[in-house]
Amino acid sequence: MNQITNSGTEQSPEKRKIVVVDDEPFVLKVLARQLTLLGYEVLSFERAQDALSVLEESGPGIDIVFTDLQMPEMDGVEFVRRLVGARYDGHIVLISGEDARIIRSAERLARARGLSVLGALSKPATREQLKEQLSRAEVTTQVQSATAVPKYEREELRAAISDGQLVNYYQPQVAVGTGAVIGVEALVRWRHPRDGIVSASGFIELIEQYDLVDELVREVLPSALNEIAALQSLGNELRLSVNLSIDNLNSLDFPDFVAAAAAKADFPLSRLVMEITERRLVGDQLSSLDILTRLKLKRIGLSIDDFGTGHASLAQLRDFQYDEIKIDCSFVHGAWGDDSLDAIFRASLLLAKQLKMVTVAEGVEDADDWRHVRELQCERAQGYFIGRPMLVEELPSWLSEWEDRFGKL
Ligand code: C2E
Ligand code: MG
Ligand code: MG
Repeated sequence: MNQITNSGTEQSPEKRKIVVVDDEPFVLKVLARQLTLLGYEVLSFERAQDALSVLEESGPGIDIVFTDLQMPEMDGVEFVRRLVGARYDGHIVLISGEDARIIRSAERLARARGLSVLGALSKPATREQLKEQLSRAEVTTQVQSATAVPKYEREELRAAISDGQLVNYYQPQVAVGTGAVIGVEALVRWRHPRDGIVSASGFIELIEQYDLVDELVREVLPSALNEIAALQSLGNELRLSVNLSIDNLNSLDFPDFVAAAAAKADFPLSRLVMEITERRLVGDQLSSLDILTRLKLKRIGLSIDDFGTGHASLAQLRDFQYDEIKIDCSFVHGAWGDDSLDAIFRASLLLAKQLKMVTVAEGVEDADDWRHVRELQCERAQGYFIGRPMLVEELPSWLSEWEDRFGKL
C-alpha cells in the first residue's frame, strides 16, 4: 500500500482529514502538499482500492475525499460508486484532466448517488481553487443539516392548507431590455409551526403525491389574486403568474373556478398567467388539453415552466400553443461559462421565438447571468439577481431599489 501521511505546518486544534487519490505520483504529491499547507491532515493514495480500504476502516473520520477520474485499475466513477457502498458520508471533490463535460457528468452522477460533491477541479489546481472548494465544505455542512427535507404526513399538509399556514411570496419578473417590471410569480411558502418557513421545493412533490393539488390551488390562487389586485403601487398592468401542477388539469371545472376567483378579486384574466410544469408523465392528456384550451379561450396566459427538464417538453410544444416559455434555471445560471448549457439556452430561445412565444429566463442569479441573458436577447428575466421571492408588502421598496440599481447596470 502506498500511503503517505503529511502533517501540516499551520497547526489548528482539530485538524480535518482529507484523502487524496491520484495515480500520477507527482500530481498526488503536489496536491497533498498544498492541502497540508492549508492546514489539513492528508492521506494520499495512488490506488483507489487502497483508499477504499482505509475509508472502510476509519468510518466517519474522513471529512473530504479528493479523487482523480482517470485511473488505470479502479477509475474515479467506480471509486465514487464504491464510496457510497462503504457508507462514506463526507464530501468529495473531483479532480481531472478530462474534458469539462465528462467532469460534469461524473459530478452529477455522484450527486445523484447522494454524495455531497463540493465541486470539480481541472488539473493542475491552484491554491486559490483549493481554498474555494474547502470553504464550501464549511458552508455545505451547515446548510445540509438546516435544509434536510423532512417528510411531512398527509394530514399535516392537509391541515396546513386549511388552517391558513400557507403564505404567498412573490418574485418579480422584469423586461431585460428596459428593466420594467412585467409581473410577479406567486411562490407558496409554508409557515411551519416547528420548521419555520418551508419553501415550495420542500413540500410540493408531497402535495402531488398526496393528491392535494386541488386544495392547494384553491388556497393559493384567490389569495394571490386579492393581494396583487390590491397592489396599486407597481402600476395597474402588473401580471400575476401562478404555478399549477399537472394534476390541476384533471378537474374539468378548473377554468370556471379560475374565472370566478378572478372576477371576485376584480383581476382581469388577461393579466393572469398559469405556469405548468410536467414533473412526471401525465395520465389523462385529453382532459389537460380540454382545460388548457378553455383557459386560453378565457385569455389567460399559459406558460411552460422549467423548460428543458421533466417530461416531453418538445412534445408539449408540439401539442399545444403556449404563450410563454420559462427556460429552467439549470440552463441559465452559469451558461455564460459553459458551452453545453449555452448551446441549450440559445437553442431554446430560438425555438421559442420561432413559435412566437415570450421567452423568460429563470435563475438569473448574478451579474454575469444578467449580462448573458441580455446578450442573448431573452425578453424577460427572473432570479435572485433581480429580486428574491418576497412578501407582497415588500414589493414597493424592492421596486425603488431595483430602478435605482438598473439605472447603474
Ligand atoms: P418554479 O415555478 O420554477 O419557481 C422557481 C423556483 O426557483 C422557486 O423555488 C424560486 O424560489 C427559485 N428561484 C428563484 N430565483 C432563483 C435563482 O436566481 N436561482 C435559483 N437557483 N433558484 C431561484 P420554490 O419557491 O422553492 O418553488 C419550487 C417549485 O415549486 C416552483 O418552481 C414550482 O414548480 C413549485 N411551486 C411553487 N409554488 C407553487 C404553487 O403554489 N403550486 C404549485 N402547484 N407548485 C408551486
Ligand atoms: Mg414557476
Ligand atoms: Mg422553474
